[in-house]
Amino acid sequence: MKNRWSDSEAAAFIARHAPRWGEALALRTYTSRLLGSEKGLVLHGGGNTSVKGVSRTLLNEEIPAIYIKASGWSLETIEPEGHTGLDLSALRPLIRLEHLDDAAMVNVLRARRFDSEAPTPSIEALLHVFLPHAFIDHTHADAILTLTNQPDGVRLIREALGDRVAILPYVHPGFALARAAADLQAASPGCVGMVLMHHGLITWGETARQAYDTTISLVNRAEEFIAKQARAPKLLRRVTALAVARERYLEAAPVLRGSLAIATDEADHPFQRFILMPVITRETLNLVDSEQGAELAITPPLTSDHLIRTKHLPLWIDDIDSIPTAIAGYQARYRERFERWAHPERRPVPFDPNPRILFMPGIGGICVGRTGAEAEMVRDILLQTLTVKNQIAAMGGSYRGLEDPDLFAMEYFPPQIKKLQSIREAPLSRQVALVTGAAGAIGSGICRELLAQGCHVAAADLPGESLNSLAAELSSLHPGQLLPVAMDVSSPEAVSAGFAAVVERWGGVDLLIPNAGLAHVASLEELKLATFQKLQKVNVEGTLLILAEAARLFRRQATGGDVVLISTKNVFAPGARFGAYSATKAAAHQLARIASLELAEIGVRVNMVAPDGVFADGARASGLWAEVGPDRMKARGLDADGLQEYYRNRNLLKARITAQHVARAVMFFATRQTPTTGATLPVDGGLPDATPR
Ligand code: ZN
Repeated sequence: MKNRWSDSEAAAFIARHAPRWGEALALRTYTSRLLGSEKGLVLHGGGNTSVKGVSRTLLNEEIPAIYIKASGWSLETIEPEGHTGLDLSALRPLIRLEHLDDAAMVNVLRARRFDSEAPTPSIEALLHVFLPHAFIDHTHADAILTLTNQPDGVRLIREALGDRVAILPYVHPGFALARAAADLQAASPGCVGMVLMHHGLITWGETARQAYDTTISLVNRAEEFIAKQARAPKLLRRVTALAVARERYLEAAPVLRGSLAIATDEADHPFQRFILMPVITRETLNLVDSEQGAELAITPPLTSDHLIRTKHLPLWIDDIDSIPTAIAGYQARYRERFERWAHPERRPVPFDPNPRILFMPGIGGICVGRTGAEAEMVRDILLQTLTVKNQIAAMGGSYRGLEDPDLFAMEYFPPQIKKLQSIREAPLSRQVALVTGAAGAIGSGICRELLAQGCHVAAADLPGESLNSLAAELSSLHPGQLLPVAMDVSSPEAVSAGFAAVVERWGGVDLLIPNAGLAHVASLEELKLATFQKLQKVNVEGTLLILAEAARLFRRQATGGDVVLISTKNVFAPGARFGAYSATKAAAHQLARIASLELAEIGVRVNMVAPDGVFADGARASGLWAEVGPDRMKARGLDADGLQEYYRNRNLLKARITAQHVARAVMFFATRQTPTTGATLPVDGGLPDATPR
C-alpha cells in the first residue's frame, strides 16, 4: 500500500482550513481523506479518526478538546466539520467507571459536544478519548483482518508486525473496548499501534503524519508477510462460464426475489420486497464451484462493522429448486437466534430475517438490500471479504470469524440500530419500475416522479440521443437509481432482452408503465395502410409484448405487481384525422383491461391514465406533439401558444395538462391508495365527452 502523504497537498489543506479550524484539524482532515481513499483500509463510512487540542469557552478560557469523526461522514470526503468537537476534560474521567451502558454512553457523548447542532460522534469515540495521543487513526485494514481472522491470528500478527504493536482480543465496541484498549496501551510502553482481533487497527502519533505513516507501514508489513507465505493458488478443473452463470441467474432472480419478499398484513401492500445485485465474476465462481465452496463461503463477516449490512452469515443455496426452502430455513434460524440472544428486558425490534449475501453454485454471489444502494454496499463488502479469504487461502490458513453471541451483540448494538433507523424509506424505494417511451415528455415526467419516490427505474426507449441525454440527466440527480434500456417495444427479442437487463440489474420488475406510442395525422381516406400498420405495431403489438413479458415475470416473482398504462382521452373522445392513433390506442387500452381480468388472481393491478395533450416536460418536447401540433395549428389557424391556449380552454377547469400531472396520476395507482384495478383516471381538466363511463 502506497504512502500517499504529500507535503504540498498537506500545505494546501492548511491554507484552506487552518484560518477557520486551526492547523491540527486541517491536517486531521487531510490524512483522514488519505485513509478514506484506500478501499483496503475502510469501506462505506467505516473507520474513524480524531485529534486532541483545546477549545476556547465563551469566557475565553481554554479547555481540553477532542475532535472525533462524526457518524454520517465518510473519511473519503470528510471536511473539518465532519469531526465533532467534544469537551475532553469531562469525558476522560469516565475511564474510572466500571461499566457504562450504550445508551448512557451515547447520551454523554452528545451532551459534551461544543456545538449542540453537531452530528453525533462515532460510536467508537471513547476509544479515542481514553488513548492519550494527539492523533488517532482507526481502520479495518484488509491485510490486518487477513491475519486476525485465522485460528492462530495472534501468532501471525506478532510474526508479521513484531512487538511494536499491542494485541487486544475481541471486545464488543463501546465503553468496554475503549477501556480495554486504554489499559493495554498503558501497559505497553513503546507501542506505536494496536491490533484489535477480528476488528481492525489503531495507530497513534503526536502529528497527523506520524499516525498516518504508522498505519501505512504496519499495513505494508502485514501485506509483505502475507505475500511471503503465499503459494500459487490451486486451479480448479471446472468453473462455470460467466455467460452461463448469467443465464442461470436470470432464471433464479425472480424466484429469489419472490422468496425473499416478506408477507405483511396490509391488503394493499402485501409484501416488503428486496432488491438484488448479482456478483458474477471469476472470483465468485471460483469460490462457489470449488469443492469446499459452502464451507469457505458461509462464514461470519470480516469485522463487526459489516454486520449491520451483511447479517451474521451468508446463505448457501444449492440450486433454483431449493430457493424457497433455503430462504425459509434462513428466516426461521434468524428468528430462533433472535429469541436465543435478545435480552429479555431490553428486547430490540428485530430486523427483517433475510440474508444479505447469497451464494449459488454455477451462479456466484448475490447481494440483497432494501434498496439498490444497500445491495451495492453489500457487494463491496462481499468483494473485500473475498480478497481477504483468497489471501488466507493462499497462505494455507483457514478463516475464523467471530462467535455468534458477539455477532448478535454487534448486530443489535443500539447506536448501530439508530444509524439504520435514521434512514427513512421512500414510498417506492423497494420497487423496480420499467417505463417505456421514457425519453418522451410524459415518459420522462413519470421517470422523474418515480425516482423522487425512491423507485429504481428502468427507462426504456429507442436507442439514441434522446435516451442518452435523459439517462445522463437523471442518473446524476439519482445515482444508482436509473437504468437506461435501449428497447424497441415492437420487437419480441428486444423486449425480452430489455426485461433481462432489468432483472440482471435489480432482480425483477414490480411496476410496468407502458407508455411508448406513435401518432399520425391523416383522414381515413388519406391514411396509408402501411402507416396504420406502423402505428399498430408499436401501439398495439408493443403493448401486448410488454404486458405479456411482465405478466410472466410477475407470475414467477409471485409478489403481485402493478401496471399503469398511459392511455389517452382519444380512446373515449376520438378526434377527426386521428384514426390510426385513436384506434390503436383503444386497442392498447382494451388489452390493459383484459390484463386486469387475467392478472388479478396473482395480485397484479392494472389501471389506465388518460391524459389530454401534453406539450412538453421542461425542455423535452413531446414526440406526439411534434407530429400532431403542426397539423392542428394549421387546421385551427393558431400558432403554438395559441394551440396550447385552445387546449386549455376546452376543458372545464381551464387547466394546462403537464407531464407531472400524468406522473402524479401514475403515482396514485403505483402507491396503491385504493383497491382499484381495471379503472381509468382521466387527466384532462374535465372533458365531459371523454369521461370514462
Ligand atoms: Zn472499528
